[in-house]
Amino acid sequence: MKNHFDAIVVGAGYIGSSVAYHLSKAGLKTAILDQGPIAAGASRANYGNIQVQDLELEHSVTMIRQAQRHIETLEEELDWNLGLRKLGGLLPIENENQWNILSAREKSLQSIGIQASMITASQLQEVEPTIDPTNLLGGLYHSDEGQLDPFQLIFAYLTRARAFGLQEFYHTQVIGFEVEHSRIKSLKTPNQNFSAEFIVLCTGAQTAMLGRKLGCDWNAIHYVLGQAMVTEPLPIQMRNHLASASFFEMGADIPAGVLLANMAISQSTHGNLLLGESMFEADHFDKNLPYQALPSISRSVLKYFPAFRNLRILRGWSAAIADTRDGLPLFGPVESIKGLYMATAFRSTVIVTPLAGKTITQLITTGQSELDIQAFLPERNAYVSH
Ligand SMILES: Cc1cc2nc3c(=O)[nH]c(=O)nc-3n(C[C@H](O)[C@H](O)[C@H](O)COP(=O)(O)OP(=O)(O)OC[C@H]3O[C@@H](n4cnc5c(N)ncnc54)[C@H](O)[C@@H]3O)c2cc1C
Repeated sequence: MKNHFDAIVVGAGYIGSSVAYHLSKAGLKTAILDQGPIAAGASRANYGNIQVQDLELEHSVTMIRQAQRHIETLEEELDWNLGLRKLGGLLPIENENQWNILSAREKSLQSIGIQASMITASQLQEVEPTIDPTNLLGGLYHSDEGQLDPFQLIFAYLTRARAFGLQEFYHTQVIGFEVEHSRIKSLKTPNQNFSAEFIVLCTGAQTAMLGRKLGCDWNAIHYVLGQAMVTEPLPIQMRNHLASASFFEMGADIPAGVLLANMAISQSTHGNLLLGESMFEADHFDKNLPYQALPSISRSVLKYFPAFRNLRILRGWSAAIADTRDGLPLFGPVESIKGLYMATAFRSTVIVTPLAGKTITQLITTGQSELDIQAFLPERNAYVSH
């Protein structure tokens, strides 16, 4: 049958492209579908930072450790220049509450072997010479994070997967599913249907909406609109990607409708500064910036980097990021619908991208995986109800 595959991956972002590569490489006749072009979702809107210290501390440690090892060999495996480089990660702290939260986090990170350390205000410029420490108490610093070029990674996966026979269908939106005797059979798009033994949803923030087409209330997945902008290239070289410690003050719940401006800065491999990030829990996917975003991002950045005052902004954007209340991804088989898998809502997606593809492929081809995914099962804690 023309549109019958062993496996269909829905979503051509970081996660979907990795899953499609690993499934194709394992010899499965695989298709990838996206409602837009390649990287139509959050994967075209981010900094490409490989974040180690931004992990959920209870269940995600093994995943992040394994994920780190896969990143190290990635350029070699794909035989592709991904712009991979080492970078520090710095969380500047501006009040005592943040200091206390991050001191506790430092101890937890160290106890699981992650080398993050608290530094004082007077040490800040040693690790990031461009920062103005005047209004800061210090920071939590990790010397061993990194960055890659998001588009190179996604293109590399898809190009290599093509050589293993991957078939690609872009501008092809999944609008429904057929489930028979609790087993996934096919999915519907406006012009044609596709059938497969296995379907993997790598659909990021839109996964909950797709769940409704399956009669499932995937209430775990909510989403925030993350917003950022890019400047003209700078001659200086920043040593770190920075995110305000206020991210950790927020807790899991971002109040609906409230715009939060937490500084997040990275420099791209081309020298441009990526400035963010204001975010709010949203009920729409508007890629345009709301009018408050540019000034709120600018204010949060200029607090620590007054030297950037006269930089020219080239453009800004917004993208929906999937999030869960417990900070864990939805990753593994949907047990109530045989043949259906999910890989979405990772807290730091870039670092887990290679491991996610490998793990889903092991689950599909052998029924088990090296990584223990028990805590990430999509239907944990009645996260998914029918
Ligand atoms: C400003 C900003 C900065 C960020 N910086 C970082 C960072 O430095 N490091 C990091 O790890 N993360 C970062 N993130 C988060 C990161 O971008 C996301 O976690 C990541 O892109 C999610 O990838 P994904 O493949 O899971 O989902 P997505 O990239 O969102 O892909 C989902 C895909 O599914 C498709 N899709 C959805 N529904 C359907 C349907 N019905 N039919 C067909 N296709 C469908 C979409 O079109 C989309 O292409 C940042 C986010 C933002 C906004």
